[in-house]
Amino acid sequence: MSTGWKTRLSEGQRCELADIINVVCADCDAVNRVPQSRLAEADKAVCGRCRSKLFPGRPVALDDASRFQRHIENSGVPVLVDFWAPWCGPCLMMAPEFEKAAERLEPRVRLVKVNTEAAQALGARFGVQAIPTMILFRNRREVARQSGAMQAAAIARFAQAHLDG
Ligand SMILES: [Zn+2]
Repeated sequence: MSTGWKTRLSEGQRCELADIINVVCADCDAVNRVPQSRLAEADKAVCGRCRSKLFPGRPVALDDASRFQRHIENSGVPVLVDFWAPWCGPCLMMAPEFEKAAERLEPRVRLVKVNTEAAQALGARFGVQAIPTMILFRNRREVARQSGAMQAAAIARFAQAHLDG
């Protein structure tokens, strides 16, 4: 993870350990330890293992239960999940809105999509009874959920309302 670091020493510079957050790579699932200050330039942050962008600005499809688990359990960034299915009209209409919301919310929130047809066990595990349903996870726990299609601005508001406190 040496890319982009300043090469010239400034005296007294330091990093607070409390400012390190875990970011799970969307491509290889490696857990990256990233200083909060680097999130200001999130578009430049890359995975220490596979060099993919840590914040690609688009939702991450996690239809595999073990991958999903790894992201939820390790992400220091809140995770907003869209449970959807390819046969669901409202889900398909919401898809581009969810993509736009990802551009707005990263790097403060990681946006994830779960296809409930491919990953039926995940939908069942979280008691998803209608789709689309969004669930926001923070520190491994569900903190909010909302069913029904939403526009990008409303998706962003929903997430932001539950980021603090
Ligand atoms: Zn990676």
